[in-house]
Amino acid sequence: MDNIYFYEGPSGPWELVIGLEVHAQVISKAKLFSGAATTFGADPNTQVSFVDAAMPGMLPAINEICVEQAIRTGLGINAEINIISVFDRKNYFYADLPSGYQISQYTRPIVGKGYLDIELEDGSMRRIGITRLHLEQDAGKSIHDQHPDKSYIDLNRSGVALMEIVSEPEIRSAEEATAYVRKLRSIVRCLGTCDGNMDQGSMRVDVNVSVRKAGAPFGTRAEIKNVNSIKFLAQAIHYEAERQVAILEEGGEIQQETRLFDAVRGITRSMRNKEHAHDYRYFPDPDLPPLVLDPKWVEEIRKGLPELPDAKKARLMAEYELSSYDASVLVAETETAVFFEEALKYLHPLNKKTAKLLANWLIGDVFGALNRESKTLETCPVSSAHLAGLINQIEAGVISGKIAKEVFSLMWETDCDAQVLIERHGLKQVSDDGAILANIDKVLNENPAMVEDYKSGKEKLFGFFVGQVMKAMQGKANPELVNQLLREKLEK
Ligand code: ADP
Ligand code: MG
Repeated sequence: MDNIYFYEGPSGPWELVIGLEVHAQVISKAKLFSGAATTFGADPNTQVSFVDAAMPGMLPAINEICVEQAIRTGLGINAEINIISVFDRKNYFYADLPSGYQISQYTRPIVGKGYLDIELEDGSMRRIGITRLHLEQDAGKSIHDQHPDKSYIDLNRSGVALMEIVSEPEIRSAEEATAYVRKLRSIVRCLGTCDGNMDQGSMRVDVNVSVRKAGAPFGTRAEIKNVNSIKFLAQAIHYEAERQVAILEEGGEIQQETRLFDAVRGITRSMRNKEHAHDYRYFPDPDLPPLVLDPKWVEEIRKGLPELPDAKKARLMAEYELSSYDASVLVAETETAVFFEEALKYLHPLNKKTAKLLANWLIGDVFGALNRESKTLETCPVSSAHLAGLINQIEAGVISGKIAKEVFSLMWETDCDAQVLIERHGLKQVSDDGAILANIDKVLNENPAMVEDYKSGKEKLFGFFVGQVMKAMQGKANPELVNQLLREKLEK
């Protein structure tokens, strides 16, 4: 339902055009220009230095860690790093902005053009251009719901470093937009430059949406501010596309404006008319010299980058012949990739077959159980070593795939070693001809009419006999052996 590129109106289809501005909070213990702490959830106004409160005479001093994080992110999105960049003042008046301006980068950002490759549900790939990434300060927060006629201000966030990552208007559907944000999030998490927690506001998206007739110039856009979940992102885009198409079909005009997404009603509402760059009276901050990077330092950072999701995916596909789908799921979140690769170390033998089995169990059974209990891999009751141990028992023929599901449930309760659980609950697979044959005889003797039917051509009954034998042996018989012995018996 997300993958809509064209919205139908009475006049025919309208194409969707989307550009995203993602604000990603930099992982850093201190703020962009002050030493104040950045811990989430601290009591209001306990992490505010004189610089953040804009006391007269205070001077900003750049935090090298934040610069390094911006460079890492730039390299992770295949972008040019600008050796010289400039900090500007973006002037506006608001109660949560004590200085009356935000220090940002305007004409000369630290990171220039880059791109992200996104993968869509049908398996196709698209490359989305990134215009720039710049560093800027976050503002404080106004709190309107704690006093009948006053607003409170919390400056803890004031001065925290943000990376604003701006895409080209090359996104064409809600599905592409959500894939883009997911991909960006998995990259910054992998790099350790932003935690990507949208519900805590560490990643927020401004969504620019317009519609046009195919091939026509871009239409006027509306900008939906501060969307803070992937689900809302898709909803906001659908709503906005339909709203704009309805206006245009009636001969109206789209206002260039800033809108808010109302998550409760699933609609967007006008917030204010769009301000233009000149409204902000940008000028270089006289307190800060241009930021000049040492190209050797940039190279060092490049060499120290971890393996990024795309590279990891390609490697998993090459080493274990995993499908593109499986590999994408495994690398989408850093925790998943870490869990999988940790488990690989415990597989005996480690080969394509066992790796594929592990991928199936992780994506299917583990994720299924986590979803049911609203848990994440971080709180997963089954460790990577124990999951691998379960695969080893299947591979060694100690248990069948079916009994393995039972062992997995027990493991989920206790996080015990598979071998221990199999012993304790007597789940070992029976591979003893005698025991299996005895049960085969019993089943065949109890069902003489069916045996007749089978012998006169009703071959489908074979499955029935297998099922009965397995049932008689509480699912513990080696299924291959049951098949083989039963066939021999019936062909006599
Ligand atoms: P501003 O700084 O005023 O927000 P920009 O020109 O920097 O404007 O663009 C901001 C975002 O809007 C970018 O992500 C860009 O891709 C997107 N954008 C620009 N024009 C359009 C359009 N006509 N429709 C949809 N998105 C657009
Ligand atoms: Mg904008």
